[in-house]
Amino acid sequence: MTTIRTTCPYCGVGCGVLATPDGKGGAKIEGDPDHPANFGRLCSKGTALGETLDLEGRLLAPRVGEIETGWDEALDLVAGKFSTAIAEHGPDSVAFYVSGQLLTEDYYVANKLMKGFIGSANIDTNSRLCMASSVAGHKRAFGTDTVPGTYEDFENADLVVLVGSNLAWCHPVLHQRLMAAKEKRDFAIINIDPRRTATSEMADMHLAIKSGADLHLFNGLLAHIVENSAVDTEFVENHVAGFDEAVAAAQASTGDLSKDCGLPQEQVEEFLRLWTSTEKVLTIYSQGVNQSTSGSDKVNAIINCHLATGRIGREGMGPFSITGQPNAMGGREVGGLANMLASHLEIANPEHRQVVQEFWDSPKIPDQLGLKAVDLFNACAEGKIKALWIMGTNPAVSLPNADFVRDAIKNCDFVVVSDLVEKTDTTVLADVLLPATGWGEKDGTVTNSERRISRQRTFLTQPGAARSDWQILSDVALRMGFDNGFDYKSEYEIFAEYAALCGEAAKQGIELDLSALSGISADAYETMTPVQWPVSPGRRGGRFFADGKFYTPSGKANMLALTSRISPSQPKQDYPLIMNTGRLRDQWHTMTRSGKAAVLSQHTAEPFVEINPSDAKKFGIGPADILRVSSNQGEMLARALVTDRVQCGYVFSPMHWSDQWSSNGRATSLVAPNTDPVSGQPESKRTAVRVQKFDAKWYGFAVSVDEPLLSSEYWAKARTALGWKVELAGESPPDDWETYAKKLFGELSASSVIVEDRAKGGIRIALTKNGRVIGLLIVSASPVIASRSFMASVDFSSISLNSMLAGRPSTSVPDSGATVCSCFNIGVNTISTAITEQNLMTLEDIGRALNAGTNCGSCRPELLALIKA
Ligand code: SF4
Repeated sequence: MTTIRTTCPYCGVGCGVLATPDGKGGAKIEGDPDHPANFGRLCSKGTALGETLDLEGRLLAPRVGEIETGWDEALDLVAGKFSTAIAEHGPDSVAFYVSGQLLTEDYYVANKLMKGFIGSANIDTNSRLCMASSVAGHKRAFGTDTVPGTYEDFENADLVVLVGSNLAWCHPVLHQRLMAAKEKRDFAIINIDPRRTATSEMADMHLAIKSGADLHLFNGLLAHIVENSAVDTEFVENHVAGFDEAVAAAQASTGDLSKDCGLPQEQVEEFLRLWTSTEKVLTIYSQGVNQSTSGSDKVNAIINCHLATGRIGREGMGPFSITGQPNAMGGREVGGLANMLASHLEIANPEHRQVVQEFWDSPKIPDQLGLKAVDLFNACAEGKIKALWIMGTNPAVSLPNADFVRDAIKNCDFVVVSDLVEKTDTTVLADVLLPATGWGEKDGTVTNSERRISRQRTFLTQPGAARSDWQILSDVALRMGFDNGFDYKSEYEIFAEYAALCGEAAKQGIELDLSALSGISADAYETMTPVQWPVSPGRRGGRFFADGKFYTPSGKANMLALTSRISPSQPKQDYPLIMNTGRLRDQWHTMTRSGKAAVLSQHTAEPFVEINPSDAKKFGIGPADILRVSSNQGEMLARALVTDRVQCGYVFSPMHWSDQWSSNGRATSLVAPNTDPVSGQPESKRTAVRVQKFDAKWYGFAVSVDEPLLSSEYWAKARTALGWKVELAGESPPDDWETYAKKLFGELSASSVIVEDRAKGGIRIALTKNGRVIGLLIVSASPVIASRSFMASVDFSSISLNSMLAGRPSTSVPDSGATVCSCFNIGVNTISTAITEQNLMTLEDIGRALNAGTNCGSCRPELLALIKA
């Protein structure tokens, strides 16, 4: 089979992938050694992509209600409902909510339909949740949404400051590039994060800053830069506006930096000294900065320091926003945000509107900004949105106040969801479901965090009736009577049109210039290699702003006068803790794709809440208890992880679990919908909560061949290589455990073997059918002690009943423990034993002895933590 060059569909690093189809619907996945983002590396998620390609759980035909239909019927209905809503209530009564998972071509057509032809700006994207504050910060400072640097800066900096970024888990290949560079040429890495993460483990210094105090720290840094004569006066005088005001505000707001930031004085001094005295300083930031009610100001506080020192746009230096999603950048380039037009043109600018309208020959372009994500779902709740189309995203899980959002979607008269997955927390709310193609089945482009455009290519056949999003959108547009502008035959025509519009935008002084690609042929599009924008006749890629040329009306960059804003989420008597949310190493968003890969569920298989030991003691919580966590918005159930990684007064929970994978594990249902007033980005890192021990009378763990049927108050299921595993707990035990087990495994006629430990209140039930084990349930009065790694790896067809009932390997086979290295399936016990017995002192020692950490490298921070421990 031919190997196809494509791009990973997960994060904003944008790694190149070589996919070799196996002819049976799957593919061998490798890193592309020639792709300039990853040079052959892939992280654990990218490596496991081949495990996610099967058609289990796929939406393969349009559905109206519960009924499968043909495309014509479904598309006629969608076009008719949208047209009727517009005719009766105006264009602002409809909305699209789109996704950083869409390809640029899909995004472009969605935006063209809504802003150019329907005549509303009500299209917003889940990227609003991830990097809208960076967009706002860039535009305020530079006059345009431009990431100044390139990934090569990671390797050439002398000081790398990571702010609010768990790069090691959320952008693992960039972290590996950073660590590989550090091995060759020692330079300092500082991690600023209230929580100790895998990134902190690998840093030279971890500043466990008080949550939300980043603005204080960077205002303090600006004041320190001035005090220590580190200002680049030539750059500031010629290329920067607002310097005096920004410095005055910084000096006025800087009190006792150590106290304000909750950091030891010597750490603050070392940070200020290093930053100020190092010319090549790169400040990388991500969701910890963006997801805040003062996210835009935090971004500008960072940019202020780089502008004051002139450290921008040159090798190894500058502010660097890392985007979360694979095509968040592409989306913002084609106007996926409700406050932008395509090609970085502005809705608020009449000349820009005219350029777009003339180019599209469209009936109208809205002159008012559309609804941003949180406001869009508020409008649904208020009944203002009559028809809503959600594309490739799961807002019933991913948005803050997720229970409210779910009700808001239910409240909307007509909801269309186009997705590749049949059952998500959002698809179950749709009136019409439209089957979209997924990764490997569709063609198009994505833009990564360093402005590099790469191709995603088809290497699998389109399953069932699935179609690309741009095709579905174009078909609806034609049915709505928009004959002019949606007659696309192929992705390359859309890309060529978009590139030509960028050429027109460039004539307006816009920096996003793709004019050299505007006449791209089908062949050239097919063979297109990764290219960093701008791509104009005079320029190809590279950094921005070293020449002091900015895109504001004055041509100068803006420094902003910034003062701290207090977050509305503060601890209160009823809700004494502050909850932070984030991502895990081996899961992606709401697990619709990564949840299918058994190898990715071996690392963490259930929702959890990290809580500091002193808070755990205060609230009577023990390790592995189930917690009920509640806020003003909602509540969740999750496993307690007692750890000093989180500070006293704070808890952390991952945002991945949905109702499809757990009974009530959606951390987002607790998150307050407070947003940054400039960017509209929600503050997903701060919500006042309380924790209580869930009064479990029993705990259970089960493995089964077939998907278990779950009914207990607490459950969390995950895939294993040969079936399923599930964690269970309940407030009252069932009347009869044998019947419970048979219902759980969906086999009322199965035979059972029961081992009871009356003294300890434990029971183990193995079910067999036709002489083969089909499932095992272990129940205990306290959290179940069993080797999860062993149980998840058992081959049901050959395991003995005794080993199964024991819940652990025979004494001759050591228990490897929870998986750390997913690539080679090596558990924590194996690694710890090898470290101790073989005196392994470095990552290389572990690699030589066990192979762990030698493939994708995602586990290297955890290996280092084990060595330190
Ligand atoms: Fe995919 Fe991992 Fe690369 Fe991100 S770092 S693009 S998830 S392989």
